[in-house]
Amino acid sequence: MKLFGTSYAALCHDFPSKLIHLSSHYRQAGFDVRRLALHHTLLGYFLALQPAGMADEILRRVIGGSMPSIKMRLGITASRVGGHHPLKACSECVNRDADAVGFAYWHVEHQYPSTMACARHARPLFIAWDPVTPVHRRGWLLPEGGLPWERIEIPVRDDRQLDQLIRLAEFSDRWAASEPAKFDPQRLAACYQRGLRDRGLATAGGSLRIKNLIGEIRQRYRGIEDITGFEALNSITPDWAGLIGSVARRSPRHAHPLKHLLMIALVYDTWEDFERSYRAENTSPVGHSEFVLEAQNLASDLAALVRGTELSISAAARRLGISTTTATQIARRTGLTFTPRRKLIKGRRMQQGKRPLVSSTAVAPEVM
Ligand SMILES: [Zn+2]
Repeated sequence: MKLFGTSYAALCHDFPSKLIHLSSHYRQAGFDVRRLALHHTLLGYFLALQPAGMADEILRRVIGGSMPSIKMRLGITASRVGGHHPLKACSECVNRDADAVGFAYWHVEHQYPSTMACARHARPLFIAWDPVTPVHRRGWLLPEGGLPWERIEIPVRDDRQLDQLIRLAEFSDRWAASEPAKFDPQRLAACYQRGLRDRGLATAGGSLRIKNLIGEIRQRYRGIEDITGFEALNSITPDWAGLIGSVARRSPRHAHPLKHLLMIALVYDTWEDFERSYRAENTSPVGHSEFVLEAQNLASDLAALVRGTELSISAAARRLGISTTTATQIARRTGLTFTPRRKLIKGRRMQQGKRPLVSSTAVAPEVM
């Protein structure tokens, strides 16, 4: 209550709210509310991929008040990756912090959904598992002390796998440090297509070499996808071909940053390689931002697009920077008549594969 003016704001460790209260009541601390929002919660990780108008609107709302629908607006709720973000820590960081400052604390760079290792100490993280959702907790989970939680170690098979996880952690950190709206899905898709070709994982014509791809990915992340809290990976691994198809196709679907990061780590050896390649892509970003109006007006924006311009529900959703699932939910709730999306998505690439793994992606959810 003292920090944020409400009793729940500090319990939600993944996304901020009421930051203006914090900064105005503790002026001597000199908090930069934008920096707090972007770099001390998961928000920066998600806003890097949002259209500029949407990112500004979300920032404005979490600084001034709260945004209960934030996970829905960021497409997390509709994504198969899931919206539960269990707290994670590195044993060595915990010990060092206790020695250095007298107590252990959670490090934001360990909390990204795609981070499973401490890059500083080159060791896997552990998960502080608590099945209770943050808003229903009666206090704070802490690395030492606080409410009880179950410790789950992230198992790593060998040094090679650990190296991959460390690289993924480093990439996640760089991604989250990017400015809001830094990445455009279409430019990213163009990057991935070129990167996959360069690595011999796709043909010049754009067909994916599925067998090689699956082999490479399985080797990297095998065994980790079964961990509690990483259902995220488990939801993707049976469908790697679908993942790659969804983020690397010419009109990419909205995807969770975790999937982009897996893709970037697959295609590029270093973050600098990726950034160079991204800068070189001259596909001009397709701005949805002119369609992104006030967040509260989402339902009326959607209605205007579907009725006024006769866009399909999925095309309207793309313009608004939200998932089709979310748009469908809003349409149903507000009684908006729309043409249901087609269930079968048969990309050229998907049809070329003969393996069951590939054909299973023919029925693909809109948000992956
Ligand atoms: Zn550490």
